[in-house]
Amino acid sequence: MGILLNVNCSKCGYQEDVYIGAGISFNKLEDVLSQFDDVSQKEIKKLVSDNPGKEWNVTKNLTSCNTCKKITSVAVFSITDGNKNVVSVISRCKCSTIPKIEDNEEVISGKKALFCPKCKNALKIQKMGNWD
Ligand SMILES: [Zn+2]
Ligand SMILES: [Zn+2]
Repeated sequence: MGILLNVNCSKCGYQEDVYIGAGISFNKLEDVLSQFDDVSQKEIKKLVSDNPGKEWNVTKNLTSCNTCKKITSVAVFSITDGNKNVVSVISRCKCSTIPKIEDNEEVISGKKALFCPKCKNALKIQKMGNWD
């Protein structure tokens, strides 16, 4: 089950609904691929066919983008390869940059502040509910 966050700026009114975690269909490759951009989809298909039978997982992670500054979430695919290394593919931001993954827990607990992409004010992050 995933968590729905609301990110908002009390100063300028910027706000985003951000879905993090994993949904109920995230264990089926056909269903999760659509969460990724075209380049990432190709990388994932190759990783899965190069590592047959290896476990993989997909979760949505809170991200901030250095280019467009938006706070959003992208899907992250991880698989353990034959050398026991975890290989990850991070889907791109809508602006085509690979965004920075934020620590969900630190941001939700308020340990780490995120800033408004429009006015740089510290954002308020609230848990709104769950999704699946
Ligand atoms: Zn703002
Ligand atoms: Zn961006």
